[in-house]
Amino acid sequence: MAKLKFEIVTAEGIVYSDDVDIIVAPGIEGQLGILPGHAPLLTMLQPGELLVRKDGEETAMFVSGGFLEVMQNRVTVLADVAERAEEIDISRAEAAKSRAEQRLEERPAEMDLAAAEAALMRSLMRLKIAERRRKRKPGSGGTQGL
Ligand code: ATP
Repeated sequence: MAKLKFEIVTAEGIVYSDDVDIIVAPGIEGQLGILPGHAPLLTMLQPGELLVRKDGEETAMFVSGGFLEVMQNRVTVLADVAERAEEIDISRAEAAKSRAEQRLEERPAEMDLAAAEAALMRSLMRLKIAERRRKRKPGSGGTQGL
């Protein structure tokens, strides 16, 4: 069956590169499903979950926004930040969430409201993606064999 050549690139390098069957990406106007044969497309992404399926196996990732381009069964995501679900540091995301919530509650005069809201959104998405992964693959959180 035809595949999509998929690559996620950040300033730090290639985060993901493989031939896949389907991509579900957080488009700026909603979830975007891409199968082989998709029409050419260039869209912005919003911070959220990007899912990839290859031979029945699913990989979940967090992307912080950026762009997605589809061209002749080649899909490229250029993101500011991208992490595979298993790379998400849950305690770091929880700390970021508490910091953002505290800032939004205290509202100091010099606060950048949009930046605080965006930080809260990133932390919530990371926690959601990491939590979903834990539910899908029990034991992958370091408790295997217990
Ligand atoms: P923090 O306040 O914890 O830095 P942030 O949302 O401001 O969180 P980003 O600016 O989105 O962080 O990302 C900065 C770098 O840190 C990126 O390389 C990103 O992959 C990484 N990163 C941020 N939070 C996490 C996390 N919870 N788990 C793994 N990597 C993370």
